[in-house]
Amino acid sequence: MYDAIVVGLGGMGGAIAYHLARRGRRVLGLDRLAPPHDAGSSHGMSRIIRQAYFEDPAYVPLLLRAYELWEALARDAGETLLVKTGGLMIGTPDSAIVAGSTESARRHGLSYRMLSPEDVGRWFPAFRLEPHEVAVYEEAAGVLFPEKAVAAHLRLARAAGAELRLNEPVESWVAGPSSVSVRTTAGRYQAERLVLAAGAWNPKLLGGFFPMEVERQVSLWFRPAERPDWFEENFPVFIWDRGDEPALYGLPGLNGEGIKAGLHHGGQRGDPDRLPREVTPEDIEPVQRLLARRLPLLDPEPRRAAVCLYTNTPDLHFLVGPHPDHPAVLLAAGFSGHGFKFCPVIGEAVADLVEGKERRDLALFDPGRFRAGQGRS
Ligand SMILES: Cc1cc2nc3c(=O)[nH]c(=O)nc-3n(C[C@H](O)[C@H](O)[C@H](O)COP(=O)(O)OP(=O)(O)OC[C@H]3O[C@@H](n4cnc5c(N)ncnc54)[C@H](O)[C@@H]3O)c2cc1C
Repeated sequence: MYDAIVVGLGGMGGAIAYHLARRGRRVLGLDRLAPPHDAGSSHGMSRIIRQAYFEDPAYVPLLLRAYELWEALARDAGETLLVKTGGLMIGTPDSAIVAGSTESARRHGLSYRMLSPEDVGRWFPAFRLEPHEVAVYEEAAGVLFPEKAVAAHLRLARAAGAELRLNEPVESWVAGPSSVSVRTTAGRYQAERLVLAAGAWNPKLLGGFFPMEVERQVSLWFRPAERPDWFEENFPVFIWDRGDEPALYGLPGLNGEGIKAGLHHGGQRGDPDRLPREVTPEDIEPVQRLLARRLPLLDPEPRRAAVCLYTNTPDLHFLVGPHPDHPAVLLAAGFSGHGFKFCPVIGEAVADLVEGKERRDLALFDPGRFRAGQGRS
């Protein structure tokens, strides 16, 4: 009998297993593969982290704690996991990304600067803004290294006593009021609590109870054709609002891999085991077209490409908390393409929930808002 079984040991599950094990909880972690791997949502060498959160100011306290926990993890792992590069949130002044970022920053007293196209041209000459656009510059924004972070959480979870079984898929689970039973391809296990952190496979494990959709996303890596110095030192992460069209985002290649760019949403939706894994010219052309105007000194031919999966809820906010019909089952699901930066704080918050504590305000993520068939959209 374990205190908790964690299903899925990617970005979220690894962090949850680590926080539980550190507290001396008997924890069993199960994964169908051997993370870090490139089949789910936590690969592709880099992730954006930022504080002035346009998605909702309610995320900011979690982000401030996430920064502390990333630093602590990096210290314990003896590795660099977060590099502050600064970040530009670009769009028209009233766009969701610019207005939302400034609203979050103002409400939580975060420091930022509003830059005109000329300012951006002086500070970050690789970027070309339209005359009617502005940029919110946040110095605290930066890059995380997802594969290294997943490996660090799993290594330290094991060292703290977690039992981690890899390449052992969970086939089904049954929950009573105060205990759960899990069946895998290799056996059956029991625990007081079950945590479902299976990323793009959570919808299947939850039998379609919550309205979640898996979306294919493509990341592309580009090298500068000219002025490589503009893309090496002093190149920030960025998200470019395009109104109703998917935003364009990008990150510096801190290990020489080139600038990574992609579209946030707008991908094909479907079964995570069936979505195409190969990258086609139709994936590449829209990003090339956008970069040609906005970062014109990049060579348009991508050097590398990767397919990754988002798991979206209808309101694009997370699902974290108890299953409305099974209080012994906790969800860490529906991260809607913006979860990675939160891994350690979700790990801490879910470990609290397993222990019956609630230190963080998780109301925005309440799974009860999407009871079967009643999901807001
Ligand atoms: C292209 C792309 C760019 C992104 N950019 C950002 C960004 O810049 N900033 C940011 O904060 N977030 C970003 N995200 C989102 C973020 O990466 C995800 O929200 C986060 O990685 C989700 O982690 P997870 O633990 O839910 O999923 P995963 O890390 O995929 O983990 C799920 C695990 O569950 C396992 N599993 C599945 N089924 C079973 C089963 N039946 N039994 C046992 N194990 C199972 C899988 O093998 C996997 O290891 C991005 C995502 C993508 C795809």
